Amino acid sequence: MHNADRTAIGVDLGEYNLYTASPVKMPDSSGAHTICGEEICARLDELRDRVTALLYEGADRETIVASVTRRRDGLLEEIDAAAREICEYANAYDRPVLVTEDSHYQPDLWTWLTAPNAHRGTAWLLPTAHLRLRAVADECGLEVATVPEAYSSQECHACGVIGDRPDGETFRCTNPHCHVETLCADYNAAKVLARRYYPGRRCAYRPPHSVSRGEPPTLVAERRSQRLQRPP
Ligand SMILES: [Zn+2]
Repeated sequence: MHNADRTAIGVDLGEYNLYTASPVKMPDSSGAHTICGEEICARLDELRDRVTALLYEGADRETIVASVTRRRDGLLEEIDAAAREICEYANAYDRPVLVTEDSHYQPDLWTWLTAPNAHRGTAWLLPTAHLRLRAVADECGLEVATVPEAYSSQECHACGVIGDRPDGETFRCTNPHCHVETLCADYNAAKVLARRYYPGRRCAYRPPHSVSRGEPPTLVAERRSQRLQRPP
């Protein structure tokens, strides 16, 4: 248990809550730290509308690139400020380490701005928020680690059983023997990620009607030291 003395701070990323951070032992969500992403999402929507209008007007490439670059830089400043707030929150704990999902999506702003079926979160916002959080943590001297992302938004942080999401924002544990009933889904996910940092923490998920034995998804927490890439 080489990292048992570290305080893992799980950070869940989303559009409504850009960052939700919590250590595994936080007694309730009032001690977690959340940064709302709604304004950034609205600005990304505006930027897409702006590019659509420029393309419709037949604006030249230089004009479009200059417009996008200026607004993108403003968005990155906002995301960096949010990431800094998360790092300050984490640094208040003893021997903190930030724990995020092991995802490798690369941000692609042009996909969001021009592809008809693009999704702003997966195309740009979430990969960017992930990379910037790790970059800012690096600047702050805060250690980072990633853990497997599978089921992290569905698993109960307390008992490990897969629950459900009755309204998207709420997580509900379906295990009748668990003390968790319902709670904020993002807060639950942050705690699941923090929990996975420690050795031996495996997902307890069993398919409800499965007859196979001994092959649950093994989600052994792992640490990685990854150098960071700046978003384009
Ligand atoms: Zn539970």
